[in-house]
Amino acid sequence: MMRQYELVDRVRKYNPDADEDLLNRAYVYAMKAHGAQKRASGDPFFSHPLEVAAILTDLKLDEATIVAAVLHDVIEDTESTREEIDALFGKEIGALVEGLTKLKKLDMVTARARQAENFRKLLLAVADDARVLLVKLADRLHNMRTLKHMPPVKRIRIAEETLDIYAPLAGRLGMQSMRDELEDLAFKQLMPEAHAMIVARLDELKVRNGPIIAKIEKELTELFAKRGVKAKVKGRQKQPYSIWRKMERKSIAFELLSDIYGFRILVPTVEDCYAAIGVAHTTWPTVPGRFKDYISTPKQNDYRSIHTTVIGPSSQRVELQIRTYDMHEVAEYGIAAHALYKDAPGSETSANESRAYRGLRRMIESLAEGENSEDFLEHTKLELFQDQVFCFTPKGRLIALPRGATAIDFAYAVHTDVGNSAVGCKINGRIAPLISELHNGDEVLIARAEGQTTPPAAWESVVVTGKARAAIRRATREAVRAQYSGLGREIVERAFKRAGRTFAEGKLKAALPRLARSSLEDVFVAVGRGEMYSGDVVRAIHPDFKDERAAGPVLAEGESGWFGLRKAAGLMFKRPGKGGEADSAIPIRGLRGDLPVRFAPKGGAVPGERIVGILTPGEGITIYPIHSPALTAFDDKPDLWLDVRWDIDSERKELYPTQIAVTALNEPGALGIIATTIGETGGNIDKIDFVPQASDFREMLIDLEVWDIKHLNTILSQLRGKSVVSKVERVSG
Ligand code: MN
Repeated sequence: MMRQYELVDRVRKYNPDADEDLLNRAYVYAMKAHGAQKRASGDPFFSHPLEVAAILTDLKLDEATIVAAVLHDVIEDTESTREEIDALFGKEIGALVEGLTKLKKLDMVTARARQAENFRKLLLAVADDARVLLVKLADRLHNMRTLKHMPPVKRIRIAEETLDIYAPLAGRLGMQSMRDELEDLAFKQLMPEAHAMIVARLDELKVRNGPIIAKIEKELTELFAKRGVKAKVKGRQKQPYSIWRKMERKSIAFELLSDIYGFRILVPTVEDCYAAIGVAHTTWPTVPGRFKDYISTPKQNDYRSIHTTVIGPSSQRVELQIRTYDMHEVAEYGIAAHALYKDAPGSETSANESRAYRGLRRMIESLAEGENSEDFLEHTKLELFQDQVFCFTPKGRLIALPRGATAIDFAYAVHTDVGNSAVGCKINGRIAPLISELHNGDEVLIARAEGQTTPPAAWESVVVTGKARAAIRRATREAVRAQYSGLGREIVERAFKRAGRTFAEGKLKAALPRLARSSLEDVFVAVGRGEMYSGDVVRAIHPDFKDERAAGPVLAEGESGWFGLRKAAGLMFKRPGKGGEADSAIPIRGLRGDLPVRFAPKGGAVPGERIVGILTPGEGITIYPIHSPALTAFDDKPDLWLDVRWDIDSERKELYPTQIAVTALNEPGALGIIATTIGETGGNIDKIDFVPQASDFREMLIDLEVWDIKHLNTILSQLRGKSVVSKVERVSG
């Protein structure tokens, strides 16, 4: 643990005028306040604020910030109060410590109003003082460095939060080295294999190329000296996380990454920067599209530098970043590079104030003008967090998502199981569709259905996060397979029964090689998909089995025609994974999209009427109303017939499309009467097509949506009762 005099020494090294007494008093006060508290590592808790302060002394921050770092956890974790801190250390430090206490609470807020309010406090605290945010980042950095002492679940949450919120924030504030370290620690935690792979590869490169960085450094230094530019050259290997991101973003292999090495060329003046780029570009071929002049056009966070990539020394592709020493300070420490000057006596604050600091202050000012908290959130999204939205779970957990994310993305961000079982949501207490785009500060409550494990396949095209997309794809694929497998098993069992043989899994297992499949599941799926004929499965065990397919359907005595056929199909199939209860026939309607059940394209079936499923090899099951003339095409294929039925959830009613043909008098108002009649009985007209015909009558085809067969029949009889209507029929495909 850092000693009292060490803390003073660290500050004095860069700030000889530092108030030694103040630092000493803070040290003693925090030590007493935290007393015997311990960290998860078993270390005294007090070591933590000291380490945070040490990180900030490396950034050469002013003594108020350092003292605030030493005290940052006392209000939240001990008996100390703001008043006490004000009295002992002054209002400036009191405000900083309180700002940090508020930031800490952000994770624990619940109600929406309080969230917005805290968000506001958070940023207003930054407004008076960007130093609060700097302490918060240092606090996070130390927590990340000591993450291994936390339980695994907590570790992952903290690392994700770091990658989602704090590392980008450090980047926005222009603090590159802080960002690099946060990212690297989080990356190592979240993807240990990927991290280890990249580190191993980098080591390999080091062995293969030898001291290449030192060699190129020397070559560059000599070259610039020869051409009269006084430059300090510093080479470095890119960070594992930035290499990983590049591999991911461009989906390229490590071997193909060309710029693993970067070189910084530091020069005294801006003129020297342009002289240096001149030397580089007249000496080596440049890589097109890689030249960026951030000196004439600085980045928003005040970053200034000239970037170029050349096929340079030792024939390596290297990135060069050319900047002055001052620019380098800002690039490395960002806003922290300026914070020290803020209170330095005699400094011309307005002239010296960096663009980043001014930008931050402007943002805060515009925020402070917002009337209510929601206005405030609206503003913030224009500024600090342009490409992200921050939402909350009802328990106050902060979920960061990319802009455009929906409640579905939110559900998957919380947990894959939450996403897969999501059926609805409340956004800020109001029921909303799951596809709603989320906004900053939204509190999202996901409603889940017990036992639902398969999301609608269509979600895949709605979501914006990769995590959600991958999970949906996986779940749908598994569900489709389970569906085919369940269906195939029924067909196989039935084929055995028809052949007068007993179906035994063991025997079929032994016959797998003959079917060129490696598992029973594969056989069932193949049969379910129509890729394998069930008769062939029977024959694999009983080679003497004679296929009756060619002879046409065999009907029991007394059965004939449609009815007999339908009975011969005699099969009900079950919802996958639900065992065999008879009443769990598939909710046919719920299985559109990628799932293998669909409706006949014309004259679709509606609930309440008898239906039949036809297995269409390679495509799935098509549902027809039992009276459909289209069924004659399948007369000689009994294997394809499936007796299915409705499984309608009366709680979640849905409309079903159907078509009717209406013949009406060709007189004004007739159409109005028809439309009104359908509307009054609760039907929904999608489309009306007129059959061209010059006579006293008009014939039209009406596409409409109804709840069920009863509803459809009501509409039909209501229409028949109208004097302008001469004929009404349901259209069957
Ligand atoms: Mn802390």
